[in-house]
Amino acid sequence: MRPLTVLLAAPRGFCAGVRRAVQAVEDARAATDRPIYVRHQIIHNRRVTDRLETAGVRFVDELEQIPPDAVTVLSAHGVGREVAGQAARRAAPVLDATCPLVRRVHLEAARSAQAGRKIVVIGHEGHPEVTGILGHIDGEAAVAASPAEVEALGFAPEDPVAYVVQTTLSVDDARAVIAALHARYADVAGPDVRTICYATQNRQTALRRIAGRADRLVVCGARNSSNANRLREVGEAEGRPTLLIEEAGELPRAFVEEAEVLGVTAAASTPEELVQELLDRLASWRAISVSEVGDPEENVRFAPVDLGALA
Ligand code: SF4
Repeated sequence: MRPLTVLLAAPRGFCAGVRRAVQAVEDARAATDRPIYVRHQIIHNRRVTDRLETAGVRFVDELEQIPPDAVTVLSAHGVGREVAGQAARRAAPVLDATCPLVRRVHLEAARSAQAGRKIVVIGHEGHPEVTGILGHIDGEAAVAASPAEVEALGFAPEDPVAYVVQTTLSVDDARAVIAALHARYADVAGPDVRTICYATQNRQTALRRIAGRADRLVVCGARNSSNANRLREVGEAEGRPTLLIEEAGELPRAFVEEAEVLGVTAAASTPEELVQELLDRLASWRAISVSEVGDPEENVRFAPVDLGALA
């Protein structure tokens, strides 16, 4: 068997917000006999949601689809005020698994709108996190994901503008949009790229670190996961052929045939078992030697979701 060096980016995989949200659903399942319904995918990973579904958890798009006696869980992506209010009026318990870092963006957006600024949410229109952020803004708001979209904004150049950034954006993309905002508007307030969360930044940095040493890169993650797609783009921007796969079985042998060194990472919503399955698949083709590059420790912990409503 030909040798293949595999570099595993560290950190990779589950972030603190995803761990907390999944734990909340599992704990709720264990704590009550009521049906458990999650509004939206709790996190963007089918493996995780399939496992929860097997345990009896159901996923729906809207609160109206949830039976009156069921426990409602709001996903890590967060919701706007209207949906939160609707949930609060339910008679049955509601658990809010919104990531605390997403909540921070809600507060920042609401505060800037109250201060009379027009808000630009730097992010991808239609992503549940962006929809939730927009739902906390009283006043004018728009979404822009690129400098071209900043050019198309309807705000006048003299308008006071503030921006917030979707937590899972690419740092470089966000910087480009912020620069475009400063070029177009005289009065721009914003947090720089600080609202891009630590987990997103760490995973992008870790991937860049291995990209320089690898011929090709594989990102394990869901195709509807924002941070997985951003990792793929980071790999491509580093000039490496980069493949995003949801399951190990999707990796075509031809992709690694010519590689001497393969870099591997996983998005913040991807369980580590997928990386291990990928390594097993690689080991069936090549004599692999695996080293982890970087520091897997992140030391970020959030208080668990309050399950008091289930008592
Ligand atoms: S990626 Fe960041 S913002 Fe999103 S759930 Fe994880 S910790 Fe929270």
